[in-house]
Amino acid sequence: MNLNMEGRKGIVTGATKGIGNRIAQAMLESGMSLAFCARNQDEIDTVAKEWTDKGHKVQGTSVDVGDGEAYRKWLKDAAEWLGGCNAFVPNVSAGGGAEEENWRNNFEVDLMGTVRGMDVLRPYLAENNGSAVFIVSTAALEHYPFVQAYNVMKAGLIVYAKQLSQVVAKDGIRINCVSPGAIMFPGGNWERHKVNYPDYYENTVASIPFGRLGTPEEIADAVIFLLSERASWITGINVTVDGGQTKRVSL
Ligand code: NAP
Repeated sequence: MNLNMEGRKGIVTGATKGIGNRIAQAMLESGMSLAFCARNQDEIDTVAKEWTDKGHKVQGTSVDVGDGEAYRKWLKDAAEWLGGCNAFVPNVSAGGGAEEENWRNNFEVDLMGTVRGMDVLRPYLAENNGSAVFIVSTAALEHYPFVQAYNVMKAGLIVYAKQLSQVVAKDGIRINCVSPGAIMFPGGNWERHKVNYPDYYENTVASIPFGRLGTPEEIADAVIFLLSERASWITGINVTVDGGQTKRVSL
């Protein structure tokens, strides 16, 4: 299937590692140009050089998504540098925890990082048949062993995506969510869980009918399809990519 992504322009938050890194790579390999952010400048330089050396048009910038003013400025600069924006993937999360500080951080980073992104990029997405995919989590969809801010803010993103998708469709913009299940990659959370909480890790593997965790590539493939015009009739949905880990019936 040709996704027809040549010449399209994307912005991804948190693309130096893990899922965001594979999404960004898939976007570049499909022929898109890309602007991305993370915080660690050395890692940004390494990743940007690797992709530039392969001939891709890519710009990486150090910005903290939780710093609303700097983040808004970066998004606008990134869209101007690209000459537009057809695709936006807010991927960064402030992670887990149930302290008041965690609630504030997850609100600022997970929720407002997406809301601010749509505020700034909506005019660009409207000019270019744009599409956004919000990275959520199966932690928002079912009972989860840890009660924490992360799950609640991620759930809020699904409601925001559905409602906003109805409003921006008239501008030709589509908005969807992708909810990854447990995803394994070097340096990621699940590699740490395997060592620090072996019972939790083994129970999680046992709960997945395929008997393994997912890969970042399996998330990136779903994201890139939703971003592409081949998904032109799909908007306002949440795609669960978890190998059958969640057990609810989704109607
Ligand atoms: P990760 O490995 O921790 O990578 C996060 C990326 O975001 C890095 O590039 C990191 O670079 C950047 N980042 C983190 N905080 C940032 C901030 N405040 N501002 C700018 N950049 C920031 O994360 P991941 O596991 O791939 O998760 C990616 C997304 O998938 C998250 O939304 C997560 O909730 C969701 N998810 C993951 C899993 C899983 O199993 N991994 C499951 C369900 C959902 P710096 O540290 O340099 O900033």
